Amino acid sequence: MHNEHFDAIVLGAGPAGLTAAIYLSRARIKTLVLNQGTVGGQMILTHEVANYPGVEHVSGYALANIMKKQAKEFGAVLKTVRTIDDIALLADKKTVSVNGDTVYTADVVILTPGGRSRTLGVPGENRFKGHGISYCATCDGEFFTGKEIVVVGGGNSALEEAVSLTKYATKVTIVHQFNHFQGFQHAIDEALNHPKIEVMTETVVNEFYGDERLEGVMLRNLKTNEVKPFATDGVFVFIGYQANTEGLNGVVELNKWNEIVVDANMQTNVEGVFAAGDAIAKRFRQITTAVGDATTAALAASAWLHERKRERKPAFANS
Ligand SMILES: Cc1cc2nc3c(=O)[nH]c(=O)nc-3n(C[C@H](O)[C@H](O)[C@H](O)COP(=O)(O)OP(=O)(O)OC[C@H]3O[C@@H](n4cnc5c(N)ncnc54)[C@H](O)[C@@H]3O)c2cc1C
Repeated sequence: MHNEHFDAIVLGAGPAGLTAAIYLSRARIKTLVLNQGTVGGQMILTHEVANYPGVEHVSGYALANIMKKQAKEFGAVLKTVRTIDDIALLADKKTVSVNGDTVYTADVVILTPGGRSRTLGVPGENRFKGHGISYCATCDGEFFTGKEIVVVGGGNSALEEAVSLTKYATKVTIVHQFNHFQGFQHAIDEALNHPKIEVMTETVVNEFYGDERLEGVMLRNLKTNEVKPFATDGVFVFIGYQANTEGLNGVVELNKWNEIVVDANMQTNVEGVFAAGDAIAKRFRQITTAVGDATTAALAASAWLHERKRERKPAFANS
């Protein structure tokens, strides 16, 4: 078994993890970033980021590569791992075992595993993701200016985002599986009374179709079982969000949605363990918010490390 010690380990290399790595390594903290998946996280799924301040238009992939380069140039070590076998985070000993052959230890850990939108899991969904299917109105709404779109879902996110998408789309059709909505009454009223919004209840998406881009959805009426094509320029799916915290259950405190609970300094319930980005309990999930949380987490982690080293330093002998 190979063993290696770092001052800090960052778990996840999306915008939150890369930002934490930039701040930590620039502060001369020996930092390891372990990433399960592609560096850049969800950011690389978007072909154009148009709302990152200071950069007018950039692909998610290019932005991820700039962040990665910055982190490496400041000295962070980035490793892509096959599997994280075990994470043990105690106040005085933090261990991450990977790939069945290596154990990394650190004084502080920053958790940035991100998350994923729940998907419908129907044919055509993977093919048209980013080519007509989106899971983020703030990110992609503008691309559907003057178009007719479908919103799938019946909770607060679907209702609120359907209303927000009317800023761009000429018509929004909400497709929802039940005959009642699960949102707040004011959100339901606003959506149902909106002149640009139509609603199809007791209806589900069976399949997405198109050629290069999405052209429509096959809708199934759950009362009659009839399946009909419905032409549309785009579909926004809002059926829930899932934090990538499967391996963190029992390691740090999670809320009932399995999101990591943090304080104002992004510290978890375990001393010296911080978290940032889409995996924490919060309302808005964007690159900017991930980067902001991670800045706080990294600065708080640096201060925590500094304090701890000072406490451990032997006092000068009074001679
Ligand atoms: C299609 C799409 C388009 C978007 N467009 C925009 C946009 O235009 N503007 C905007 O601001 N936001 C956009 N977003 C949202 C934005 O991408 C996210 O808010 C942001 O990426 C979250 O960053 P993060 O670092 O917290 O997590 P993520 O980006 O999810 O990155 C987490 C990383 O950690 C890895 N990981 C998971 N578990 C572990 C583990 N146990 N150990 C190690 N690594 C792990 C993951 O594989 C991933 O690489 C978009 C999202 C999507 C899905």
